[in-house]
Amino acid sequence: MQKLEEIKGVGPKTLGLLKKLNINNAYDLISFYPFRYEVIKRSDVRNLKQDDKIIIDGVVESIPSVVYFKRKMNKMTFRLNTGNFLLNVTIFNRAFLKNNLAINSTITIIGKYDKLKNTVIASDIRFGGLSDKESIEGVYHSTYGLSGSKIKKYIDEVLKDYDVINYVPESIVSKYNFMNKLEAVYEVHNPSNIQKLEQAKEGLKYEELFIFMLQMNYLKLSKNKQVGIKRNVDFKEVNKFIEDLPFKLTEDQLTAVNDIYNDLVETTKMNRMLQGDVGSGKTIVAIIGMYINYLGGYMSAMMAPTEVLANQHYSNISKIFKKYNIKVALLTGKLKKSERDRVASLINKGEVDILIGTHALITDDINYHKLGLVITDEQHRFGVNQRSAFKNKGENPDILYMSATPIPRTYALTLYGDMDITSIKTMPSGRKKVTTILKSETEIMDVLQLMYQELKKKHQIYVIVPLIEESDKLDMEWIEKIEAQLNKAFGKYFKIASLHGKMSSDEKAELMEQFKQNQIQILISTTVIEVGIDVANATMMVIYDSYRFGLSTLHQLRGRVGRSNLDSYCVLISGRETKRLEILTKTNDGFVISEEDFKLRGSGDLFGVRQSGDMNFMLADIKYDYSLLLKARDDSLEFLKQNKDIEKINNPHLKELIIRTSELG
Ligand code: ADP
Ligand code: MG
Repeated sequence: MQKLEEIKGVGPKTLGLLKKLNINNAYDLISFYPFRYEVIKRSDVRNLKQDDKIIIDGVVESIPSVVYFKRKMNKMTFRLNTGNFLLNVTIFNRAFLKNNLAINSTITIIGKYDKLKNTVIASDIRFGGLSDKESIEGVYHSTYGLSGSKIKKYIDEVLKDYDVINYVPESIVSKYNFMNKLEAVYEVHNPSNIQKLEQAKEGLKYEELFIFMLQMNYLKLSKNKQVGIKRNVDFKEVNKFIEDLPFKLTEDQLTAVNDIYNDLVETTKMNRMLQGDVGSGKTIVAIIGMYINYLGGYMSAMMAPTEVLANQHYSNISKIFKKYNIKVALLTGKLKKSERDRVASLINKGEVDILIGTHALITDDINYHKLGLVITDEQHRFGVNQRSAFKNKGENPDILYMSATPIPRTYALTLYGDMDITSIKTMPSGRKKVTTILKSETEIMDVLQLMYQELKKKHQIYVIVPLIEESDKLDMEWIEKIEAQLNKAFGKYFKIASLHGKMSSDEKAELMEQFKQNQIQILISTTVIEVGIDVANATMMVIYDSYRFGLSTLHQLRGRVGRSNLDSYCVLISGRETKRLEILTKTNDGFVISEEDFKLRGSGDLFGVRQSGDMNFMLADIKYDYSLLLKARDDSLEFLKQNKDIEKINNPHLKELIIRTSELG
């Protein structure tokens, strides 16, 4: 089966839900690998400790009783006889199963064992007993209305008869003795044993890395051939602008400006990554770059990952350029049609010098004239494949990427091999350090106390609730619980609101604006990106279950506070992985932190929360699979050297991939 629509039971509604999970075709579906595995094996109840995971089968011994409570929640309880034990079982929100749980029916439950109460808090009930042989099952991400087991069913359906695309050349497959791709995909979804599963994953990981490195190597090889724009700009003019700024640039900022200036006045095409901590002053460097480009007679475009950030950049940048009579415009997907048309026509007439916006900059039908420089904020969200977007519009601008997630140098050289890198390592002087405090869940009263101290000073607070990943529904329940808890503590005197994925971007923008105006004092948010805004009066950030985040992400998050001369705090709540989290209480240096992150956790998180660009691997993890990455790097380079004539490549998918890459650049 090669099409999602052909799967039995998949209609427009399910297609929509699949789309939400980024599954747009059959290939996406079969590549939707489990995010973890569960070993299904009967627990030895006698040897379990309090709160251990339990998997056990038995017969229903009592008629299940159900209680309903607020917001359509329900709780069902019954007794299970395992032959050796009589256990109480509690499960939430499965009242609909009640009629299937007749006395004496055999079932299996999976959950957590509360030994003291002799109760299993079940997360799953299955009909039938366990087999005596252990098995391994994948656990899939799901979304409201589409369960992991449904998705697995669809995957199996497709795999029954599927022509899988394989990008790795036959010679490499046999060199490493990789499992046949289709077999490997099947194995990953239906593992026979750990060893075979690992073997299957190895080949699939290699393929992900091979595709990525092939593109990188291709771009690197073709880079020197690219001719860029040569501008005639006197550095004295640039210096005047710099001296006019309300502050003195740091040493690193000056170096960065120099790097960019040199790129822009030479014919080589710029493809540069500017990395540095949140608040290290990358934006002003980018602004100077746009000024140089303007002096050279070209238009600049700056692309931000969200509406909120684009708006923020627009208002800051307009202010700076006002007295130079440089025309700045904003283009986002949210503009009214009349406003959009007005901006588009200005661009058409060549009357915009600097355009700020979101993805609308590349997705909208805009005719650029003399587009000389493109700047992308947070390049992780701007994949290799999107580089061609401007080129398709007939322009070949210089490109500057900005990233607040520094990557250790060794990795950067491999991963961003086709780019030049400039790092801003020192923060502007006078910046206050954010005091970071680690607390466990049991110390929640202390946390509330700390929050109260700040609220009393009329300061504002961000509360971050990480997504649990397994289901939107659980996430919502958790957010509501925390909101209720905070309302109980502070609701009488302070306004509390939460910002979450279920809201429209208008609703989000509205809430952010209220927070900015201090009409809201505590803002609960689920994601990183949505708090990507400057609110100087916000002096505290509280992060629940902080262990779920990597250090780099936490460090970026806390960069949202400490944006004024007020003392600021970051409270990390976690009872787990405290040793790792302690690093944050000791240093504020993003480069040191990212180095530690790599050592401790792998790359998963570095590209984690805001992942969606190039390094969005399903299975591979750059740190753990680094040696595989190096193999893929060397093999792909070798392959490109031996296949200079693209037309002669006999794997059609590989050929198409290279042709697509050649159109990027
Ligand atoms: P980034 O883009 O790296 O997160 P920004 O460019 O937004 O950082 O800088 C954060 C704040 O610091 C801005 O308000 C900016 O005007 C200010 N800033 C930038 N460079 C300096 C400097 N050299 N000295 C003082 N303040 C600076
Ligand atoms: Mg150049």
